[in-house]
Amino acid sequence: MRLLTSAIAVSCLIASSLALAQDKVVNIYSARHYPTDEALYSDFTKATGIKINRVDADDAGILARLKAEGSASPADVILLVDAARLWRAEVDGLFLPIKSKPLEDAIPANLRAKAADNGGTAWFGLSTRARVVVYDKLKFSKADLDSYEKLADAKFKGSLCIRSGSHPYNLSLFGAMTEHLGPAKTEAWLKGLVDNMARSPKGGDTDQIKAVAAGECGVAVTNTYYLARMMRSANPADKAVTEKIGVVFPNQSSWGTHVNVAGGAVARYAKNTDNAVKFLEYLASPSAQNHFANGNNEWPVAKGVSFDNPALKSMTGGSFKSELIPISAVGMNQVKVQQMLDRVGFK
Ligand code: FE
Repeated sequence: MRLLTSAIAVSCLIASSLALAQDKVVNIYSARHYPTDEALYSDFTKATGIKINRVDADDAGILARLKAEGSASPADVILLVDAARLWRAEVDGLFLPIKSKPLEDAIPANLRAKAADNGGTAWFGLSTRARVVVYDKLKFSKADLDSYEKLADAKFKGSLCIRSGSHPYNLSLFGAMTEHLGPAKTEAWLKGLVDNMARSPKGGDTDQIKAVAAGECGVAVTNTYYLARMMRSANPADKAVTEKIGVVFPNQSSWGTHVNVAGGAVARYAKNTDNAVKFLEYLASPSAQNHFANGNNEWPVAKGVSFDNPALKSMTGGSFKSELIPISAVGMNQVKVQQMLDRVGFK
């Protein structure tokens, strides 16, 4: 309730600034929880003169807020950090499908969602993050873990650390597994993960990495940018953690490593639609794409963008094979996945 009250207060603030500068503003609801993004926003304003009003919340908070606000919502752009959430928002009718040649040219077709109604695009993936496996180098080797399937092997009994199965990052990974293996095999695999857990799921991805380094678990699952952040950290404790662990990009010899997207869309009731499209086009530009890579350790999605991030390079040796299933299908599986998690007791 307190959240809603403050949300309404912020909405009123935004509404009043809207009245002052109707045509030189864009209102963004963002779930990107990365301080390094500040430069992204200020560069856009510098280049276009369009002022950004930003509301930061987590994905679930943004979706709830958009629903509560309905057609009165001041939101023009919505930025979310997971395919399952993007899919949910689209299904809930929170996006205004758009047509933009620059965005369609820049972003590969499997990383954007075709809108059902007007032939436009409902949302665009703007950067990717791989969901990889890390392991204790004293206990295991790369070959033990070169596929997601192997995480269910009996040899990892009591070794696996992973965040909650219901977290969007895992719902998307498991949704992708459902595409690759089919539901029956995926459910058996999930049961195998539960059997192998070192502890009941808790914490975020960084906590799992640290637990491997601390010897509490032998293997864990994490998004790459959390790992890259620690590798590039000036804090010696972070460096010490990354030196103890190995990283595997699973399924290089089959369908490729699971990648999730952070993406954006125009809000269904946007008042500054042109500015919203301009902002999304800006995020697909080489400079913004480079920023995703160097600022937040994500992979750019726009075609032909080169970047230089030492942590990402050292992890992959240059490049890796990522899965090519349509990212929208991953989100679509999340209800099915949640039911499987409940059945196998994956918290
Ligand atoms: Fe994250």
